[in-house]
Parts: sequence; structure tokens; C-alpha cells
Amino acid sequence: MSDTIEKVKCLIIGSGPAGYTAAIYASRANMHPVLYQGEQPGGQLTTTNDVENFPGYPEGITGPEMMIQLQKQAERFGTDIRHGWITKVDFSGNIHKVWVNEEKEIHADTVIISTGASAKYLNLPSEQKYLKLGGGVSACAVCDGFFYRNQEVVIVGAGDSACEEAHYLSKLCKKVTMLVRRDEFRASKIMAQRVINTENIEILYNTETDEVLGDGQVVTGVRVFNNLTNEKHVIDATGFFVAIGHKPNTDVFKDYLDLDETGYIINAVPGTSKTSVEGVFVSGDAADHVYRQAITAAGTGCMAALDAERYLASKDSDFEVATSTYN
Ligand code: NDP
Repeated sequence: MSDTIEKVKCLIIGSGPAGYTAAIYASRANMHPVLYQGEQPGGQLTTTNDVENFPGYPEGITGPEMMIQLQKQAERFGTDIRHGWITKVDFSGNIHKVWVNEEKEIHADTVIISTGASAKYLNLPSEQKYLKLGGGVSACAVCDGFFYRNQEVVIVGAGDSACEEAHYLSKLCKKVTMLVRRDEFRASKIMAQRVINTENIEILYNTETDEVLGDGQVVTGVRVFNNLTNEKHVIDATGFFVAIGHKPNTDVFKDYLDLDETGYIINAVPGTSKTSVEGVFVSGDAADHVYRQAITAAGTGCMAALDAERYLASKDSDFEVATSTYN
């Protein structure tokens, strides 16, 4: 353990659109933010190819390129961006204590959590191969569905997310085949019924993925098996969507913050970024299992920085709310 404790006004944890937007606002408000990027600098968007629904990019932009630009924008205003992983926190007192890589101790007046969530995958080697190649595997129909217009796709999952995404895809794609591993949906009746009633969605019950097939570059089909009979067959498809849930990256906070049963951080005051601990704020997917978009994450990043700024001003008479923040 290092014996030098660093004191910071504002510590931002996470480097997706939420974290970088919080950093842009916090640095412009003279909060001298320090941002730790975490294990996957740039967050979930670095696994997305083209982002075409973020306002301001009429020609679209790749996820990794967008994250580089957001990082540069945060750096331009003085954000101290560092590599590192937060391994422990102690939010029991007025000073928020945070440890980086189990070593460095930081005392922060305010903490903005932007650690995001991770989509769950099946973790089949073939799925991971085409995911990494950007060749037709996706965990976000809203982000990537557009690229499969008039094509045939497969989606795995039977919860509300899978139903919502299958329905979304059915409006763009020629055919959607939905793989449900049991003989029933987990989704709410109304969501499941909507999928069942959609003509170009075929539902295969008791069916799981054996292998994602491709030509070495892009997906060309999916071999599936019936888990009652073990019979296998191949479905032609150019897209393979996985909608089996997300895991918010909040384990490290669970002893101090109120989380819901699946681990999402609960907003203590709805409509703000406040958590159950004063001076600790949350933005992005760590608190959002509904919208999960880059633009909503960025919006809540802005909210968290403004809430943190007001909190600092209320605690420290020398710290003035920067009017530029509200321009
Ligand atoms: P859920 O955990 O509800 O559902 C996950 C689904 O994926 C289940 O059907 C599960 O199957 C299936 N699954 C898990 N692992 C595998 C696997 N290895 N192979 C095949 N299938 C697998 O996650 P969701 O993301 O759908 O929903 C999360 C929460 O968000 C829920 O509370 C949901 O209600 C909510 N939500 C609400 C929405 C709305 O109201 N508009 C929209 C989206 C989400 P099994 O059933 O067999 O376990």
C-alpha cells in the first residue's frame, strides 16, 4: 500500500460517454476532476462498429473513434485521465475513500460513478471471434439493427430485453429467429405476446446455440440444437444478436450504496444523479437498465457533474458554482 494519500475534489470512475461527459462538465467548472478509465477504456462503445444515432455525427462515427474524441475533449479542459481500476471503496464517512489497483488511496470530496454495465454473452469461441471482428455479433439491436436491413438474423434470449429487441429487429429485417432455451418466455406476458404475434419472428423453443458460423470475416449462419432431442440444424443469418441480460459493474460499491436486486445503483432522488451516499453520484448504465444508450449516458454524466458541483458549493464556501457550466 502506498502511504501517500491523494486528495481530489472530484473523482470520476469510468470512461464511457457518461464518465467523459461528466469530466467535460466538471473540468469546465474548476472541479479539477481525476478520471480512472477502468479495465476497458472507452467502455461498451469500443465494441460497437458504427454509431449512427448519436446526434452531431451526420455521417456516423465508429464507437472507438467517438470515445477517442470524447477523451480528447475532456483532456482539453484539463481532466486528469489515468489508467487504473478501482478495487475498493469506503463511503462510510464524509471523505470518500477509494483505492486504485489495491494500492493507491484517494480521498475525494465527490465521486461520480460511471462504471457502466457489461452485456452478457454466451461465451462460445465462435461468438467471441465474430464479436471481436465486428463481423455480425451484437448485444444491442438498437445500436446495430440498422445494418441488417432486409436480412435474416438470429436473436438469443427470452426476457423483456430479448422481446423488445426482437420486435425492433422485426421492423428492419426480413426474418428474425428467436432462440428460447426453455419451453416458455421469462418476459412479461404482454412483451412475449407481441413477439408471438409478429409474423416475421419465428420462435424456436428449447433451442440453444451450438456454434456461430461464418466465412472467417462475417457471420453466415447459426447452428442450433434442440436441448430435448439434441437435434441440430443450421439457420442462415447475417446477424447474431445476444439479449440475455446485462451485469452492471457495481460490485465494488455494494457495501455502501443502495442497489436494486440485479445490482443497478438506485437513484436516491429520482430525476437526479444522487445515490444513497451524500457526495457520491451515478451516471450512465450503472443506474440504467432501461435506456442504455450512449446519448442517455452522456446526459446523465452531465447531470452528475452539475449535482457534484452544487454539492461542493454547498459544503465549501470558497468553491463557487461556475456560471459557465450553465451556458
Ligand atoms: P432477464 O434476466 O430478464 O432475461 C434474460 C433471458 O436470457 C432469460 O430468458 C434467460 O433464459 C436468457 N438466458 C440467460 N442466459 C442464457 C444462455 N446462456 N442461453 C440462452 N438464454 C439465456 O434479462 P433482460 O435483459 O431481458 O431484463 C432485465 C430486466 O430489465 C428485467 O427486469 C426486465 O423486466 C427489465 N426490462 C424491462 C423492459 C421494459 O419493461 N420495457 C425492457 C427490457 C428489460 P431463462 O428464462 O431460461 O432463464
